[in-house]
Amino acid sequence: MTSATSRRRPDDDAEVIVVGAGPAGSTAATYLARAGLDVLLLEKSTFPRDKVCGDGITPRGVKQLIDLGIDTREEAGWLHNRGLRVVGGGVSLELDWPDLADFPPYGVVRPRNDFDDLLARGAQHAGARMVERTTVTGALTDERTGRIVGVRAKQGPERTPVTYRAPLVLACDGVSARLALSLGIEKRDDRPMGVAVRRYYTSPRSKDDFLESHLELWDRSNPAEPKLLPGYGWIFGMGDGTVNVGLGILSTSKAYGRTDYRQLLRSWLDGTPEEWGFREPNATGRVGGAALPMGFNRTPHYRDGLLLVGDAGGMVNPFNGEGIAYAMESARLAADCVVHAFARPTAASREQALRRYPTAVSQALGGYFRMGNIFSKLIGNPTVMRMATKHGLPRTTLMRFVLKLLANLYDAKGGDAMDRVISATTRLTPSA
Ligand SMILES: Cc1cc2nc3c(=O)[nH]c(=O)nc-3n(C[C@H](O)[C@H](O)[C@H](O)COP(=O)(O)OP(=O)(O)OC[C@H]3O[C@@H](n4cnc5c(N)ncnc54)[C@H](O)[C@@H]3O)c2cc1C
Repeated sequence: MTSATSRRRPDDDAEVIVVGAGPAGSTAATYLARAGLDVLLLEKSTFPRDKVCGDGITPRGVKQLIDLGIDTREEAGWLHNRGLRVVGGGVSLELDWPDLADFPPYGVVRPRNDFDDLLARGAQHAGARMVERTTVTGALTDERTGRIVGVRAKQGPERTPVTYRAPLVLACDGVSARLALSLGIEKRDDRPMGVAVRRYYTSPRSKDDFLESHLELWDRSNPAEPKLLPGYGWIFGMGDGTVNVGLGILSTSKAYGRTDYRQLLRSWLDGTPEEWGFREPNATGRVGGAALPMGFNRTPHYRDGLLLVGDAGGMVNPFNGEGIAYAMESARLAADCVVHAFARPTAASREQALRRYPTAVSQALGGYFRMGNIFSKLIGNPTVMRMATKHGLPRTTLMRFVLKLLANLYDAKGGDAMDRVISATTRLTPSA
């Protein structure tokens, strides 16, 4: 009896099953299929489908798109932005994305409806077999070893029970993490969570060279007595006449879990200038919301034939709520370990290759996420946040440093003095 990975068995449906065709699943499936593996990509919805998101992608995410071979030029339909506008403490500061060797100098905005469809089609083009309308309900395990040998699912409009078998499964099913939960891999309460809501409006602010981030949200319903609201907001122009506006709150804030987030969004937006258009008649859809699993809040990232990737492994950046770049980055690392595993002759050495995955994500992101977890505790305290906004924002050089830190954009080797400070600190911070 062995508890290590075997290669494909006669009754297997694929060499690898990838559950969920968001950025994590489609990226992993693309790399795996390109390496020649037989990949089954199971997705509960049908494409194109929406996903509640801010639709903003920093240069870190753009790098992942370029690595995947996607044409990210404006001619190919991508709306570029040149940096971040930070608003708070009565100041508005425009910061260009840093000039770096490791990352491109632009971010992009693209509706998830279209973005996720593009990535999923890319995975199919690479050879992955995608099966839509298939909701995975749990893991199939080998009774003797406890190892995952496939998944159970409900399929089609009748929700017909089906099973699919494979020696390896990638959980890319997002924040619900149903597959991991079915194996008892629970959420960690010592890591931050966020919750965010967003809505689209038609607005004259649709074309903007900057992603806009609001460090303070004010309720100005009574102009004589403006009230500071909890949370941080964004305004991302979509370039098509609409704007994606939203806000997020961290679990370290007192307001977390006790707030009507939709009402909070309304209170903030009602107080924004009339001419921006963030009023009910201009809304093009409903308020959507979801949780943000941060700072590796679900571990272990590998166990018994199951790899957790993207939101399923809690890979949202605790500094800024960005998750697409990290979903794609972890997918690439996971695919790399799986490809190496399949190239090995014995079950034990295949298992060794798979155990490299948690180490690889930890090396890539662990120190940085750990700093983010500490940061999230600090800014959960309104006094610290107010001091930082008041004294930090007016100092441009300091803010350039903060931008590099918050967006995880620095050259890991070399770079300028700021890059070297961030790089050394992430290396010295014990991995999450
Ligand atoms: C309001 C909000 C705003 C955000 N804004 C940004 C932003 O501007 N930029 C950014 O980078 N990140 C943002 N994020 C975070 C980002 O959306 C996620 O981190 C990212 O989508 C994670 O990708 P993923 O592939 O891991 O998971 P997901 O994108 O959630 O994909 C999971 C996929 O799995 C499928 N699935 C789920 N369960 C099952 C199942 N049981 N069986 C089969 N299929 C299943 C889903 O349908 C989906 O296709 C935001 C999040 C929220 C909530």
